[in-house]
Amino acid sequence: MRPEHDVPLSRFTTVGTGGPARWLGRPASRAELEQALTFASERELEVAVVGLGSNLLVADDGVDALVLRLAGELAEVHVDGELLLAGGGAANAVALHRARAAGLGGFEFACAIPGTAGGGVWMNAGAYGSDWRAVMARAEVVTADGSGWLTPDELGLEYRRSSLRPGQVVAAVEFRLQPRDPDEIRRTVRELNTRRKEAQPTNKRTFGSVFKNPEHELSAGRMLEACGLKGHRVGGAQISPKHANFIENAGDATTADALALMGEARRRAHETFGVDLHHEVQLLGPIAVPA
Ligand SMILES: Cc1cc2nc3c(=O)[nH]c(=O)nc-3n(C[C@H](O)[C@H](O)[C@H](O)COP(=O)(O)OP(=O)(O)OC[C@H]3O[C@@H](n4cnc5c(N)ncnc54)[C@H](O)[C@@H]3O)c2cc1C
Repeated sequence: MRPEHDVPLSRFTTVGTGGPARWLGRPASRAELEQALTFASERELEVAVVGLGSNLLVADDGVDALVLRLAGELAEVHVDGELLLAGGGAANAVALHRARAAGLGGFEFACAIPGTAGGGVWMNAGAYGSDWRAVMARAEVVTADGSGWLTPDELGLEYRRSSLRPGQVVAAVEFRLQPRDPDEIRRTVRELNTRRKEAQPTNKRTFGSVFKNPEHELSAGRMLEACGLKGHRVGGAQISPKHANFIENAGDATTADALALMGEARRRAHETFGVDLHHEVQLLGPIAVPA
């Protein structure tokens, strides 16, 4: 597996912005992942991972790193009794489908999270009162120096964060689920999807929640709505008219447009509520949210 050179990452992010990766590797097995990590360490390249790019803003000027997208065996899902073993690159939709077919419940909350098993570990993704921490037994983390299985505590999983660092690749995730009737699972998923469609822009190019909810009676979305930011636009990026904690690519948005909007949102939340909002979206490349 030889990484490709100068590959645009905008097609690997749900918001559709971002410049090229200097190198993009798509390892399809453990052996190829190890080769890719060796390729990077021989060239002293940083390593980054993209899952489904659903919580990711990539620098418009690109990323000077080896960016990995796990494929093949590293994106497969297997069921073993009440354990669901997902490759780090497995889409949540596939994992949920396999869980339902095997009559295993507990992962329904992930129906609204359009990412991968590995991306979910990085973010401790969650919704509707559950998260990765609640359903995950352990995850296998691979680096250039070796690999190991880590528990949620060892991974430091908390509200939308983990202690993982660039260069640590989540190659596999073991979920511990419980027996549940597939029809009940289907019903729950349908209800959750309906709720989601009512509240959030589900048919737009976004990157999920922009900011984490602050410790405040108002959620980040309600706070930014109260600041009058719904529909506010910079370049091709706009704050969703439906839910103020989402930024939509309303045309030819760039990552710089989205960051400028985020800076404005932070400024207004601070001015109006005295609250410092912290971004949930992950940044790849030499970029930052304006202070
Ligand atoms: C419409 C919409 C709704 C959403 N709703 C929710 C929600 O309800 N709850 C929620 O928590 N999130 C939500 N999200 C955000 C997003 O889907 C989650 O954070 C998801 O877990 C990100 O997974 P990903 O594979 O897309 O990761 P990416 O966005 O590709 O990457 C996110 C971070 O994880 C790292 N990463 C990804 N894969 C790996 C890996 N295998 N090993 C190591 N690091 C890795 C990346 O380097 C990056 O830092 C939503 C997004 C959208 C677009």
